[in-house]
Amino acid sequence: MSSLRVAVAGAGLGGLCLAQGLLRAGADVTVYERDAALAGRRQGYRLHVDARAGLALAACLPPDLLALFQATCGDASRRLTVMSERLRVLHEQGSNDPAIDPYAPATLSTSVNRQTFREVLAAGLTDRLVFGHELTRYEASETGVRLHFAGGRQADADLLVGADGVNSAVRRQYLPAAETADTGKRCIYGKTPLRPEVLDRVPAAMTAGFTAVVGGRIGMATGLVRLRQRPEQAAATATATATEAAAAAGAAAATAAYHLSPAGDYLMWAVTGDRKDLGVPDAELGAMSPAALHALSANLIRTWHPDLRALHALADVDETFLVRVRTSVPVPGWPPSRVTVLGDAIHAMSPAGGSGANTALQDAALLCRMLGRMLAGATASGTAAGRDALIAAVGEYEEQMRGYGYAAVAASSQANVGAPQRGLVSWLYRRLARSPAGKQLLLGHLLDGRAHGGHGRGQVRGVHGGRDDLTEAVVVEPGAHGHAVRGAAALFDARGLAAQRTRVDHVGTGEPLHEAGDRGGRSGVRQMAADEHDDLLGVAARRIPGLVHRGDHMAGLA
Ligand SMILES: Cc1cc2nc3c(=O)[nH]c(=O)nc-3n(C[C@H](O)[C@H](O)[C@H](O)COP(=O)(O)OP(=O)(O)OC[C@H]3O[C@@H](n4cnc5c(N)ncnc54)[C@H](O)[C@@H]3O)c2cc1C
Repeated sequence: MSSLRVAVAGAGLGGLCLAQGLLRAGADVTVYERDAALAGRRQGYRLHVDARAGLALAACLPPDLLALFQATCGDASRRLTVMSERLRVLHEQGSNDPAIDPYAPATLSTSVNRQTFREVLAAGLTDRLVFGHELTRYEASETGVRLHFAGGRQADADLLVGADGVNSAVRRQYLPAAETADTGKRCIYGKTPLRPEVLDRVPAAMTAGFTAVVGGRIGMATGLVRLRQRPEQAAATATATATEAAAAAGAAAATAAYHLSPAGDYLMWAVTGDRKDLGVPDAELGAMSPAALHALSANLIRTWHPDLRALHALADVDETFLVRVRTSVPVPGWPPSRVTVLGDAIHAMSPAGGSGANTALQDAALLCRMLGRMLAGATASGTAAGRDALIAAVGEYEEQMRGYGYAAVAASSQANVGAPQRGLVSWLYRRLARSPAGKQLLLGHLLDGRAHGGHGRGQVRGVHGGRDDLTEAVVVEPGAHGHAVRGAAALFDARGLAAQRTRVDHVGTGEPLHEAGDRGGRSGVRQMAADEHDDLLGVAARRIPGLVHRGDHMAGLA
């Protein structure tokens, strides 16, 4: 064992992966975890893992644990689907190339149950993982670092790694300027076990990866977790294999026994929105029980498609929890020392991007590589040269980590589900606006609230002839309706549509839209599938204040 003593504060994903890698590199590592055990309530949620995680795990884990991780992953997760709250697919992205192995480290694209993952990462660490040690502060000197824990205990190390998550005590002391900021977004997370009656309600488009449901001010993210193998079975198989291998090698007993808590398949869902749109004061939100959070989120999606409401209603209510989405404020580089940080402790980010764990694991592998290289250089850590080599390795790690870590923070901020102006919806808007077909779709969805539309259902007489599955949307050119239009720019070419066919009777006899206009605009009619119309109706109802509904006819009167 080397004389490099590394103390890791926090047995989360990054800290455990680092410990595995450092042990393999020959360092003397101890992980100090504040909790009394790995298991805890509401640890079992879905994490999307990609090649960053795959390559980090391949570099840090021994082969048996890498295999156990791969055996306990979920289905391949290679698609991002965006749907309306009426289950209309708005956008799909991703590849289903069968030549790409979703479980190979370099092309990893799957999900993992967080609790299972943490147990795999902790396997074999035994007395190198100590629980019930909450780091409160440290003292760093030229020769080492002294750690202080709640209750008065202490420990010494050559290097302290703060892997203690978003509220990191290490970061607070070491880099007080590196603050976290409240994004104002709130997520109510939950899980619905995949019983047969649940599977019947899962829309096909939701089964292949991550789905973002765009419901105006409220959004929902979903992801199925269908485990390749039950964790408890995978652990039993791995133990049997190790026992056989030990017997074949003539050993008296197996060298490894694996224990993973049981877990089943489930649908992860997260109802998201801005705190002001949840209808409950923020202070109260934090104090709500799982049942109250579940009831609140049910209310927020009460007008959504019945299948989405059913999937939510069938949840394991006790597993519901709140996340206040925080992000980090990037800070300029700092001089390296015997203290460093990784993962959420330095670059916490919105979970919407599915990147926080991937980046924490990437950090762990990078720091491991830098320290491993230093250890291979065989400079004794007690000497001045050894100290310089350690600080240089930490500095190289921090330089790279800040680059990709803060980039991931920025990318995750763009991915907030349910943030109509800045997040997923505006991203979707930009993508759709690139194509004529996308523009047509946007036309109906009236996303930015500047152009307004009314809808007529069932107006199949006259203009388009009778077809039950078709309906018509009335589009209103800016200026066409003296009260309905704000702002200069239209989202769509209403002029072109109006030129095709113009109707004046779609908002009810005696109140034709074009006559109500006072700025020279015109109106037009578009034919569309009935379910698309349902989507439009939902969006219009939220976007147009003072929406007037006259039987089958609607018009915006802002
Ligand atoms: C609901 C949800 C969904 C997410 N989905 C994804 C996803 O799909 N993909 C993805 O990449 N990321 C996702 N993330 C983010 C991801 O979980 C985190 O980025 C990741 O866990 C960070 O790992 P970490 O090791 O830095 O910190 P953590 O995993 O938070 O671990 C920190 C550890 O430190 C311990 N600790 C804290 N303070 C102290 C102390 N003072 N002393 C000792 N120990 C301490 C804690 O108990 C904890 O065990 C999600 C997050 C949430 C909340």
